[in-house]
Amino acid sequence: MSTSFQNIKGTFDILPDAHTDDGGTRTAASAEWRHVEATVRDVMRRHNFEEIRTPVLEPTELVARGVGASTDIVQKEMFAFERGDTQYVLRPEITAPVVRSFLQHHLDQRGGVQKLFYIGPCFRAEQPQKGRYRQFHQFGIEVLGADQPRADAETIAVLMAVCDALGLSDLRLRLNTLGTPECREEYVGALQDFLEPYADELSETSRRRLERNPLRILDTKKAHEQEILRDAPTLIDFVNEKSRTHYDTVKGLLDDLGVEYVEDPHLVRGLDYYTETTFELEHPGLGAQSALAGGGRYDRLAEVLGSDAPVPAVGFAAGMERLFLALDAADVELADTPTPDVFIAALGEEAERWGFRTAQALRAEGLHVAHDLMGRSLKAQMKEANRQNAPHTMIIGGNELEAEAATVKEMESGAQEEVPFDGLIEYLTRTAQTA
Ligand code: AMP
Repeated sequence: MSTSFQNIKGTFDILPDAHTDDGGTRTAASAEWRHVEATVRDVMRRHNFEEIRTPVLEPTELVARGVGASTDIVQKEMFAFERGDTQYVLRPEITAPVVRSFLQHHLDQRGGVQKLFYIGPCFRAEQPQKGRYRQFHQFGIEVLGADQPRADAETIAVLMAVCDALGLSDLRLRLNTLGTPECREEYVGALQDFLEPYADELSETSRRRLERNPLRILDTKKAHEQEILRDAPTLIDFVNEKSRTHYDTVKGLLDDLGVEYVEDPHLVRGLDYYTETTFELEHPGLGAQSALAGGGRYDRLAEVLGSDAPVPAVGFAAGMERLFLALDAADVELADTPTPDVFIAALGEEAERWGFRTAQALRAEGLHVAHDLMGRSLKAQMKEANRQNAPHTMIIGGNELEAEAATVKEMESGAQEEVPFDGLIEYLTRTAQTA
């Protein structure tokens, strides 16, 4: 079979079976996605996080402000369009939408700290490559209304707990503090002063950043620039006493939890609303796209989005596709595609009608039941039962209808048993439980 259509470059289908995408990357099966999503949900439940779902479409201005007009995302990567008077964007991340929703619905009035998690698709018009897609999926959390270091430490602990529950190790957690926007401004001045004499040696991109966003130069992957930066002033020396205490407390709490981290003074974020703790989680199996997740505190974002009161907040966002890459690299086995408890193979019209009815009755009891919808031969039905890996096949023909007992075949051993119709539910439920 064929079609003249293909999925859009940088997007992918999640199929019942794992497959390899056009970039040569393994795309996990839908059962594996469900397994990872269920694990995320379970970790969230245990940590007392509640789910929030926001629309995929948001006002473009929300993203421009929330993600920052100077970022690559807003400058180059938004899927944005206009319809009527409204400017729409396919959300490139989910923090700004969650904060919008929190403010719009006055979630603070529920009382206490709001601990929210999300899972869902995001869109960025990036150059597709391994681990980098145009439609990808993030899960993450936002802790809203808590300014204490414990919220930062718990945010990191939740991320580590998800990785742990999935069986992922070998992770590298990089940690830094950004202090307040005010001390950062002072630091930016010092960094500019330091880099100015080296301007000729910097790449064109970095030279441009020197004026507009010098913090991003610290991200450079170029060896000679890293060499220059070795003697550059570090942010921590500009961070005030209060922020330092906050940072030390976060580190102490992580130590208490046995969470390992490396401090990285070059880990920064360019936007003004980021404050205090910042972190990134990496896995060696990810190659160039090494970031599995990133996060930190963003105490000033609510005001950027128009709030008349500050909302101290901290969170992380993790990429699901990156998680699958890391799980593959680490050879972690995920859940198999579920197989039916029983396949009903019926021969003859009357038996087919009985089989059709019985399939529904067994399903109502919670059993996973497969059958043939095409009136095929018994041989073809047995072959299909094998392909679907059903441990049992129930065979129904004229004789079985007359005897009011089904022939149940255990597929692995080939052993057959007559099971009276009125004992089928009990029999199949029992065998399904022991399977
Ligand atoms: P960010 O919102 O840029 O901090 O990204 C958070 C996480 O989302 C990253 O650590 C990645 O795991 C994931 N991510 C970001 N962009 C993409 C993309 N284009 N394709 C796949 N995953 C992405």
